[in-house]
Amino acid sequence: MTLPTFQRRLLDALPGDDDTSPRSREVLGACWSRVQPTPVRAPKLLHWSRGLAAELGLEPALMESQETADVLGGNALWPGMAPYAANYGGHQFGHWAGQLGDGRAIVLGELVRPNGASAEVQLKGAGPTAYSRAGDGRAVLRSSLREYLCSEAMHALGVPTTRALSLVQTGDTVVRDMFYDGNPQGEPGAITCRVAPTFLRFGSYQLPMSRGDVDLLRTLVDFTLERWFPEFAGQGRDGYVAWLTEVSRRTARLVAHWQAVGFVHGVLNTDNLSILGLTIDYGPYGWTDDFQLGWTPNTTDAQQRRYAFGSQPGVCLWNVARLCEAALPLLDGAEARAEAVLDDFRQTYGDAATARFAAKLGIAQSAEDEDAALIQAVFDWLGKAETDMTIFFRSLAEVVELPEAPSAVPAATAAAFYGAPDQAHLDAGAALLQRWWRRTRREPATPRELATSMRATNPKFVPRNWLAQTAIEAAEEGDLSVLERLFDVLQRPFDEQPEHADLAQKRPEWARHKPGCSALSCSS
Ligand code: AMP
Ligand code: MG
Repeated sequence: MTLPTFQRRLLDALPGDDDTSPRSREVLGACWSRVQPTPVRAPKLLHWSRGLAAELGLEPALMESQETADVLGGNALWPGMAPYAANYGGHQFGHWAGQLGDGRAIVLGELVRPNGASAEVQLKGAGPTAYSRAGDGRAVLRSSLREYLCSEAMHALGVPTTRALSLVQTGDTVVRDMFYDGNPQGEPGAITCRVAPTFLRFGSYQLPMSRGDVDLLRTLVDFTLERWFPEFAGQGRDGYVAWLTEVSRRTARLVAHWQAVGFVHGVLNTDNLSILGLTIDYGPYGWTDDFQLGWTPNTTDAQQRRYAFGSQPGVCLWNVARLCEAALPLLDGAEARAEAVLDDFRQTYGDAATARFAAKLGIAQSAEDEDAALIQAVFDWLGKAETDMTIFFRSLAEVVELPEAPSAVPAATAAAFYGAPDQAHLDAGAALLQRWWRRTRREPATPRELATSMRATNPKFVPRNWLAQTAIEAAEEGDLSVLERLFDVLQRPFDEQPEHADLAQKRPEWARHKPGCSALSCSS
């Protein structure tokens, strides 16, 4: 079996901290601290992503060996790996929190992929680091399974994301107070192996800036440009502004994509925004079953609702503003140019969101006011009675093929209602669907073609919280079959897969208020 090769470009290019002990501390003037994963009792591979393993050049036989489980559980290293934890800061819930860093994530190394690109391979839950503060550096099975499953489902949905290679059960017990109510319990420990070109995040740049360490900031930004944005490298201030604009655009397009699939991140702190515009750090995330713009799955945010579904675009803009602020020392005070980046975000988000929602409605050419009004009318109607977002949009592919404009809400669409809406709401729905159906007749594509393109845009399967919860409960009992089936179905979210219709259901009533389904804490 061929082992992958590793390089260490980030470690060689950026200053680090020589102290390898996992003792919690402030780390000044450094972007990383070398640290070894802390071994676990009995690492066991529960599941691995065939798609990602193939991209990384890892053969199935290698993936399924105990030696690999040992590496993915933090008990062994492959030659060339040089583990470290990254240093970064962040704004948490709107407040500057200072140094945060990888408190329980350890990058094992930069794997060189068969196509020559590189990928940071990171274990989440691999033990304490310099950045663990009061935390234990560990993760529990429920949150690890959620991150693992959702990362790979997101990728299959076409949404930019960090990836997940494996889910390992550690054989150790991890104590968590899941509801923060003074009832700590032992839970099975687990480690997710996450993979991304880089895990650098907005907070990576904020930390040196907050300490007035402009030299380190410049070194880090120059490295980022050379490595990930070579088109902007070596151009001084203009290059920095172009880079900020690009990061801002990627973030705007990312959040437009989240809105279009109904994903609510849950903790959009600046340490959880990737510099590459990837979805990163899956914690108390959720999928809006009914289209509730005010909904957040994160109980820690239940009062403020800072990170609610409908607030995500605004909060991402706020985060981009914090990134621009962090970069100001490199712009020689050209605040106006940073302002322009924010205007650009608004424009990019508006265009991307309109295009995505128009595509969900089968409308290819979107910018017209009439279409914007139609999209708004759909949002308004969806918000008035509990209606499943995924089922609603998926049903439109059926409705678009009707020979005439529907005179009532068709059964496929009515299947999206959680309750029984009153007649006025049904009438309004019928009128809306007629207006939309007529609009689709002005598209150049045939109704059949529209239905096909809409099915490729509106997923049938998304990793709804209650589905993940069923996989977690089974896995905690040692039964992996629920996870295996769900994972496979979510790899083809746009395919009909009629034999798996039960995984495309509305959230069942039992899941409405159940922890893990409707509400999640940050405890993980
Ligand atoms: P998150 O909310 O997951 O983005 O985490 C915020 C910060 O807390 C990051 O610096 C994490 O590394 C750290 N953290 C979260 N959980 C733990 C834990 N169990 N042990 C150590 N650090 C943690
Ligand atoms: Mg984080």
